[in-house]
Amino acid sequence: DLINVAIDGPAGAGKSTVARMVAAQLGYVYVDTGSMYRAVTLGAQRQGLAADDEERLTQFMKSLDIVLKPGANGQFVYMNGEDVTSLIRTREVTGAVSHYAASGIVREVLGVMQRNMALRKGIVMDGRDIGTHVLPDAELKVFLTASVKERALRRFKELGQEAVVTLQQLQEEIAERDRLDEQRELAPLLKASDAIELDSSDMTIDEVVDAIVKMSRT
Ligand code: C5P
Repeated sequence: DLINVAIDGPAGAGKSTVARMVAAQLGYVYVDTGSMYRAVTLGAQRQGLAADDEERLTQFMKSLDIVLKPGANGQFVYMNGEDVTSLIRTREVTGAVSHYAASGIVREVLGVMQRNMALRKGIVMDGRDIGTHVLPDAELKVFLTASVKERALRRFKELGQEAVVTLQQLQEEIAERDRLDEQRELAPLLKASDAIELDSSDMTIDEVVDAIVKMSRT
């Protein structure tokens, strides 16, 4: 029988990569909910909307259409018909997204979209509040963590020669995003009581994926 898998955890713990590979192995559909918060942030920034302007954000969310399309190397993100897949990965968006993610109307609208995507089982969804709020009935919940140091290091290696930040800066940015995500009032980053915690600090991606695929089959 198909199940739904929720993967939550702090920034840079490898959720997206792991969730995409787990979905591929199980023949499931992968949904990256962070990309939706990022698309909202990009759209709001373009229109000059402040993260605490609930009134104008409400109008904005009404006109917002987000479509996620699975691709071989990850998910494509379309906002009102525009491919924003790479535009939502800039530092400008990354640095602001946690502020927009604290908005009640933003969480409400995206939460509804996310629940609708998972009505038919066979979904691997990653985010911050999937096991606690979006899919509290998911059959398998994983809370994926790694030390801040390790997460910053992985990101730093990913950036390679393109890195315009130091490892120390990355570490601070990640820690700040975690702090905002953990301390917000609505659906904060939190391990669901029935989630299995996996610390990936000393594990390879393949080991993490194998562990989750095994759990999904028991
Ligand atoms: O996963 P990613 O790093 O792309 O998420 C970007 C941001 O979106 C997070 O730092 C968090 O503020 C927000 N987010 C959220 N709830 C989710 C997924 C992401 O609040 N389910």
